[in-house]
Amino acid sequence: MSHIGLISPILAQLNSGVVVVDDEYNVHYLNNFMERHASLQLSQVAGQSLFKVFADLPEAWLKRKLMSVLDLKTPAFSSWEQRQYIFKLPHLRPVTSGSQYMAQNCTMLPLQTDAAGQPLICILIEDATDAFVYHQHLSRTLVELEKANRQDGLTKVLNRRYWEEQLKQEIHRAQRYQHPLSLILFDLDKFKDLNDKYGHLGGDFVLIELAAFIGTLLRDSDLLGRYGGEEFGIILPDTPLSGAQEVAERICKAVADYPMLFNQQTIRTSLSMGVAEMHPKAHVLHDDLIRCADMALYSAKRAGRNRVCCFQFGETEYQKKVN
Ligand code: GH3
Ligand code: MG
Ligand code: MG
Repeated sequence: MSHIGLISPILAQLNSGVVVVDDEYNVHYLNNFMERHASLQLSQVAGQSLFKVFADLPEAWLKRKLMSVLDLKTPAFSSWEQRQYIFKLPHLRPVTSGSQYMAQNCTMLPLQTDAAGQPLICILIEDATDAFVYHQHLSRTLVELEKANRQDGLTKVLNRRYWEEQLKQEIHRAQRYQHPLSLILFDLDKFKDLNDKYGHLGGDFVLIELAAFIGTLLRDSDLLGRYGGEEFGIILPDTPLSGAQEVAERICKAVADYPMLFNQQTIRTSLSMGVAEMHPKAHVLHDDLIRCADMALYSAKRAGRNRVCCFQFGETEYQKKVN
């Protein structure tokens, strides 16, 4: 205690916490930083158990750490990345950090025994809230960036690049495990007329509304992406042609029956849809499957729109790839 008394004016100036305990975990010293942040006075708590003074401490964990410092006579550390804080102290920042507690880097140092021969441990508590807040901010930004990298800016469904990547992966998976896989491509009917009638903003509104609406009609594992303009694709893993056709018919009918209100005007539209299934034995590439679904979509347009057509296996060079 006498040694600490000598340097306590210096410790009082530190912008870090200093706590000294003995080998029975009784408090010998707290500096001003700790008094201020924990709202207590050294004179009130000196000699009391650290775990009584700071009731929120992770007692078992900290005792293990402190014991190893005493036994091995070497320092121990804890960073905010492992444990956000050891001492539950409020931080004094106005910034919202998602946590109201001070993030801390802590160092536990063995001290020479005091005058009475009792071993002491000094715990240094460094305020790491700035690093913690910055890291949280960075993580959030990275998540948003990654999402933006996958998303179509207008409709928020998957963008073409990411969607095609997923299609390649799903084809690979389906071939490997011999699972069925189907693809739906659909295109809005007479969308040019809709743009002419309601303006480009009206057209954009319809794309946004429909993408969200169709999303609600799919399973979590189905992947809806914007292929371009007013054309979209849905990857249906583990789904044979009959199941995909059913899904497409359901979407086609639901969209035709779905009125959208834009500038006090009700807009109705319809879809033409093409469905294709990947033959499990075919060594198809993703653009083969897209071509097949596109041919079926074209058939749906030719047959009068607002309908679903399925690709008939055997029509093209796709068949040759099976052998
Ligand atoms: P159909 O497919 O039934 O044969 O007729 P369509 O009028 O839909 O045919 P087409 O594919 O030729 O026209 C698509 C139109 O979609 C042309 C383009 O101006 C419009 N379009 C493409 N992307 C967007 C977009 O992001 N927003 C809006 N508002 N319009 C778009
Ligand atoms: Mg169209
Ligand atoms: Mg089109």
